[in-house]
Amino acid sequence: MNQAGSQQVAQAAIRELPAPVAAQIAAGEVIERPAAVLKELLENALDAGANRIEVELNEAGRQRIAVHDDGNGIPPEQLRLAVGRHATSKLRTVDDLSQLTTYGFRGEALPAIAAAAGRLTVTTRARSQPAAALIEYECGRLVREQTGARAPGTSVEVWDLFQGQPARRAFLAKPRAERQALVRVASDVALAEPQRALRLTIDGRTPLAHEPAAGGSTGAHDLEALRGALASVFRAGVAERALAFSAEHSGMGLDGWCGSPEDVRRQRDGIRLFVNGRPVHDRRLAYAVQEAYRDWLPSGGFPIAVVRLRVPPASVDVNVHPAKTEVKLRQPELAFSLVQRTIRSALAESRRRTPLRLASDALEFAEDAGSTQPLLRVRPQGVSALPPANAVAEASPGQLVELAPEHRSLPSLRTIGQMHRTFIVAEGPDGLLLVDQHAAHERVLYERLLSQSSEPQARQPLIQPITLELDAAEAANWNVAAARLESLGFELDPFGERALILRSLPKALDSAAAEQLLRGILRDAGDRTAEPARFDPVTASAACHGSVRRGSVLDSVAMSALLRDLERCENPHSCPRGRPTLVEIAAEDLLRRFRRK
Ligand code: ADP
Ligand code: MG
Repeated sequence: MNQAGSQQVAQAAIRELPAPVAAQIAAGEVIERPAAVLKELLENALDAGANRIEVELNEAGRQRIAVHDDGNGIPPEQLRLAVGRHATSKLRTVDDLSQLTTYGFRGEALPAIAAAAGRLTVTTRARSQPAAALIEYECGRLVREQTGARAPGTSVEVWDLFQGQPARRAFLAKPRAERQALVRVASDVALAEPQRALRLTIDGRTPLAHEPAAGGSTGAHDLEALRGALASVFRAGVAERALAFSAEHSGMGLDGWCGSPEDVRRQRDGIRLFVNGRPVHDRRLAYAVQEAYRDWLPSGGFPIAVVRLRVPPASVDVNVHPAKTEVKLRQPELAFSLVQRTIRSALAESRRRTPLRLASDALEFAEDAGSTQPLLRVRPQGVSALPPANAVAEASPGQLVELAPEHRSLPSLRTIGQMHRTFIVAEGPDGLLLVDQHAAHERVLYERLLSQSSEPQARQPLIQPITLELDAAEAANWNVAAARLESLGFELDPFGERALILRSLPKALDSAAAEQLLRGILRDAGDRTAEPARFDPVTASAACHGSVRRGSVLDSVAMSALLRDLERCENPHSCPRGRPTLVEIAAEDLLRRFRRK
């Protein structure tokens, strides 16, 4: 892999691993989903020194996964062995495990895939061979061998994954989650190997097409090549604004790109980590990246960052996880602090940009000037019709009570002020209410969007249509959300594979934030977190991204307007995703705490 990968072109013979070697290799449940198949096939293509890889997927990989490469190919006499158990050309002895320079080493991917697939074909031509060889398996059984023609390289096609395993098939993630995982695998390859061309097509659309820049000797460790991959996987703008970093410390090397704070995301998936060129998931290292951004990102925001760590092969164990997506570092603390310090100082150096720091530790009360009412009003004796009856009666004094989200209307509320740039403090007939401004606004927009979506006049055309360049994940999600977005009042035209033109928005949403809003919705469409029943995720996402954020200062007019809107909602007590919009402190409890009762 890396430079070693492209040089590892001299074809070593494939042989069966001696039993003890096979035994020392973690027996892995390697093939648990289409994304895992794709990962193995891509790694094989990279190990074969391919410079151009094409991936075609149908039905989120369930129907077909095809990977074509222009690598070494497999000599015809070794083809059967390659699909046999624990056959690898990359590892001979256990000692080799600590000196690995290839992605694959266990020799178990092809046999496992052959067994899991309804049909597997491998068509391959080694450079020295005049013709190509084809081998075909059905549910793990060899059914065909023949010769044919093709350019040097290998094509592996996997049809009907888990066909004979209905239980497996039933446990597969929803197609959109699977698509997300497939895009993730392919984009990790583009980032790990930016000097190789990679093209990904899913059901005829191409969410990822990475071409290395022409000319120049772009080695794997060339930061400019990586910047090109950043543009392919995320967006050109992200790559333009990103900051390069690199550092060296006690035998460890670090480099990469960290995204500008303005390219903040709501998900962690913009943090991409590579250890010795291998994409890995490592909570601690991801956290180190997040920590580096602490002063620059709002809470709940995540950065984009591509981080490449190089350590001597002997100081990392890559054989701790069946899919090789986790590694064990000898000195994790060292890596952690190197990552954090390096990225932090890269960010600090570029103070040209306005820091986005939010004062989250200061309590703020925006005075409601027009009011002379007392803070609390005791409920008049005898009036007991209003909520919250049981919840508050059972709560111990002073305890915050979250009102159960039910279909119940709100009494009319009086704005007192804002706290923490997050809560609206209000007075209701029973006591003090803290309203989460974001959740409340989400609820208001959600109901408004749902009620207006069928009316054509609910659209607000943009005077200047906005062109949105999409990243690979957003492009893959576009199909999923398209129809619903249109019925809500978004008018969107695809523009090539990776861009959209936004012509109008639902009236209920603020046009100033149109781009950010739409991106948020597209990203959410790929989110596979469970959602409550009878819930419209696209509408909820539109409401969420269109609403005021935590951290926004609201004046008393805005707060009162929001409370009026919330009072009119059908279900004012929770946001569309079920979080509470308000908590109440009963006046009775306050009186008890002040020993007035
Ligand atoms: P591993 O990658 O762990 O060696 P695999 O089962 O994935 O095991 O592959 C078995 C062998 O088949 C590899 O060692 C390699 O020699 C050969 N092979 C697989 N895919 C390709 C490919 N795309 N191009 C060239 N050789 C390949
Ligand atoms: Mg392999």
